[in-house]
Amino acid sequence: MMSRAMNKLLLEGKTGVIFGVANKRSIAWAIAQSLANEGMRLAFTYQGDRLKESVEALAGGLKGSLILPCDVTSDEEINAVFAAVDKEFGKLEAVVHSVAFAPREDLETDFINTSRAGFKTAHDISAYSLVAISKAALPLMEKAGGGSILALTYLGASRAVEGYNVMGVAKASLEASVRYLAANLGPKNVRVNAISAGPVNTLAARGIKGFTGMLHHHAEKAPMRRNVELEEIANAGLFLVSPMGSGITGEVMFVDCGYNIVGL
Ligand code: NAP
Repeated sequence: MMSRAMNKLLLEGKTGVIFGVANKRSIAWAIAQSLANEGMRLAFTYQGDRLKESVEALAGGLKGSLILPCDVTSDEEINAVFAAVDKEFGKLEAVVHSVAFAPREDLETDFINTSRAGFKTAHDISAYSLVAISKAALPLMEKAGGGSILALTYLGASRAVEGYNVMGVAKASLEASVRYLAANLGPKNVRVNAISAGPVNTLAARGIKGFTGMLHHHAEKAPMRRNVELEEIANAGLFLVSPMGSGITGEVMFVDCGYNIVGL
């Protein structure tokens, strides 16, 4: 309250890296805007030249931002991101991991038919990448005296959600990784948390069979009788990343208008 009165932004002088902006509807972009609005300087990664332009167009509007290529299946590319961030920022307070992928055929089939290759890919991109990114970010966060890492997950990690299939199993692995990383990195003052978001109409979500039906169902059954807004996920992200969330680590926080508490 006092700092607001003095017009000091919550994240002034702090820096962050955002993985997972594909376009203006991406959850990563909503969170990035909320962090930038509070003064955080950001680096953005994009996967492949296909997304370069769209990430440049969005991030280019934010003062002092960096834009770097990164396919999270490559340790070399992950290390190159943090080397560039070290050179430019010299330290790091935040990482947002908003990346997920599973091959369409593995998402669409009955779970029992998941292929070995599809299972591996889903886990590599959607869960292991958090471990690899955290490891590469750690020396920079230690330079800052601590930091905060945030991942995005979904209820399909703990419940069998029709159509979510292998992605649910990968999200269970992601959530367990959040807890183990939090336990490892807590003594270094690095916090690791996840937001479990209700369904939002994004590029990745459209890969889920029956996604529109899922949106309607959530809005009908959620205690708040509506779907979550991108801005609400972004606000929760700001809370967890910023000093406002300083006592919280290893947590999976639902931002889903209460859908997860409902039985029938
Ligand atoms: P999105 O805009 O499509 O973002 C997903 C991002 O992951 C894209 O930028 C995508 O890039 C990137 N990605 C995929 N494979 C990658 C790789 N190998 N290397 C680097 N980046 C890669 O969709 P979103 O809904 O905002 O998803 C963000 C996160 O929120 C995901 O973890 C998702 O599971 C989670 N989430 C989403 C919802 C929802 O309903 N939308 C709900 C709960 C949780 P490409 O486009 O190039 O693949």
